[in-house]
Amino acid sequence: MSSTSAERDDLWIPEQLRENVEEILIPADRIAARLDELAAEVDRDYAGRDTDLLLVGVLRGAVFTLSDLARRLTIPSAIDFMACSSYGSSTTSSGVVRILKDLDTEIEGRDVLLVEDIVDTGLTLDYLIKNLRSRNPASVEVLSLLTKPSRREVELPVRYIGFEVPDVFVVGYGLDYAERYRGIPHIVSLKPGTGA
Ligand code: 5GP
Repeated sequence: MSSTSAERDDLWIPEQLRENVEEILIPADRIAARLDELAAEVDRDYAGRDTDLLLVGVLRGAVFTLSDLARRLTIPSAIDFMACSSYGSSTTSSGVVRILKDLDTEIEGRDVLLVEDIVDTGLTLDYLIKNLRSRNPASVEVLSLLTKPSRREVELPVRYIGFEVPDVFVVGYGLDYAERYRGIPHIVSLKPGTGA
């Protein structure tokens, strides 16, 4: 029988997904505490601007980070989303990026904060930043929940970083493997043979 949220402890993982989890790398309470800090920084940095901050979530992995960040901000903000596909394999990026869903919002003159789940090689983000800058926003900055610095292929100005993770494939808190595991509340690694 599934548990109710009141019965779940801090390290709860849905039963049907638990058997493939190797290790909890970042538990939900640490994610929440770090987002408190990042939201306070964003609040400070964007206080008193002329236009409301536009949070742009990169679908689909960044959805949890974006919604938890937006709920913590005290400055006025708006949200929009982009989706893109990379022409690499399912687990590595080639740097050739295709936009599958563009913004619904005009960003000329706006402050834009791109919200990502993880920066790996950096190729996807590099493309997105250049693409957004060509639309003449007031500013473009990046917030990423996770970074894998050892895998970086391009230097990127990521202003707000939640956590550094080692070079292992991680899932949970919005990140998937073949669309599975997004709902795990923590960042976890998978047992060999069950993930990338
Ligand atoms: P990059 O262009 O920086 O190499 O790739 C970024 C994208 O690759 C992320 O937005 C994410 O979708 C995917 N990615 C990279 N590393 C991981 C990982 O460890 N786990 C998951 N689930 N996705 C990853």
